[in-house]
Amino acid sequence: MQNSIKTHGRMKFAVLAKDSGSLARVCRFETDHGTVETPIFMPVGTHGVVKTLTPAELDDCQVQIILGNTYHLYLRPGLEIIEKGGGLHRFSSWNKPMLTDSGGFQVFSLAHLGKMTEDDITFRSHIDGSQHTLSPEISMEIQNSLGSDIMMAFDECTPYPCDYEYAAKSLERTHRWELRSKEHFDKLKPHYGHQQFLFGIVQGSIYSDLRAKSVEVLTNLEFDGYAIGGLAVGEPKAKMFELLSTISPLLPENKPHYLMGVGKPEDIIQGIEQGIDMFDCVLPTRNARNGTLYTWNGRIVLKQAQYRMDFAPPDESCNCYTCRNFSKAYLRHLYMNGEMTGLRLNTLHNIHFFLEVISKAREAIKAGGFSQWEKEFFKYYPVEDDHWEINTVHREERRRKHLNENDQSRQGGN
Ligand SMILES: [Zn+2]
Repeated sequence: MQNSIKTHGRMKFAVLAKDSGSLARVCRFETDHGTVETPIFMPVGTHGVVKTLTPAELDDCQVQIILGNTYHLYLRPGLEIIEKGGGLHRFSSWNKPMLTDSGGFQVFSLAHLGKMTEDDITFRSHIDGSQHTLSPEISMEIQNSLGSDIMMAFDECTPYPCDYEYAAKSLERTHRWELRSKEHFDKLKPHYGHQQFLFGIVQGSIYSDLRAKSVEVLTNLEFDGYAIGGLAVGEPKAKMFELLSTISPLLPENKPHYLMGVGKPEDIIQGIEQGIDMFDCVLPTRNARNGTLYTWNGRIVLKQAQYRMDFAPPDESCNCYTCRNFSKAYLRHLYMNGEMTGLRLNTLHNIHFFLEVISKAREAIKAGGFSQWEKEFFKYYPVEDDHWEINTVHREERRRKHLNENDQSRQGGN
């Protein structure tokens, strides 16, 4: 098929409004599947579906863009099926913008890592143990086959904690990998007739000089947008925001800024304050399936006995289908019985809530009242304790072990 008319052009991007008291801003970028207005939250569609919801339901929740996981889709159903299905958009019937990650993060965190060299990474699938190779070039080819609107450069997301020496060495390699990603991306033709764009990923662990260096190197490569990776991987929350305040002002103003893997509503709002435009996280969907609902007054954990006879909706001010029709007592009943409809209703509410929060933030920035709105939000929304250390520690330990082993075997071979 000839798609020679479409080449990788520059992404059309405009800053529409800026907050006077912070770095918060409203921007717009265009893809062939539609326009995205930021700040925006991207629900995660790991297997080409936001778990339990249909595209029509995502539409109702004001979802503008979703994320797909390259690693998972590559392993299952595999590229042959997705290509024959007309690309991930057509295959999954999602007609709006879509972003895919590079696959690297899952290879490090989920797969059984084999060898990591300058050229590539070999790994065994977490599903059936089959062996595969991922490299900057292969990641670009896969994302090209998936047909996402926004592709991500291939990097190494350094774990936390990570000593300076390793972080510096890893960063150099990540920069070489991102350059290779860009060079290969430039050679690829869009697979399905629509344009694809490529974002670079700033790394450098918790070291602000490495982060600044990373921004400088990547800015010269002129990506269509810039993501900040390697945060929210277990470092203290305060450290993340401290780093963000040094990285964010360095990012090119005329490109989207994406904070990967973040986060809770309170983190998203503080990220917006620091000039972040795009967010993604599994929290609203995963926690919905664990019976946790997010509301303007904080979290509701349905299994708690206090909701047994609570016939009010999860959030009185929420206009989602769940809140318009069902009570906490009923949702608790569905949850306690493992009813699938319960998982759907919870997910629907959480996605609606996350998109509602971010849309209100957008409106507040446009109206010039973001700081006041933020203050109001935190007046009612209790900030959670830091749970993410516990959740990530196991995965990161496993990964560090692999990295150390790989390092030792490389040194042994030299
Ligand atoms: Zn609701």
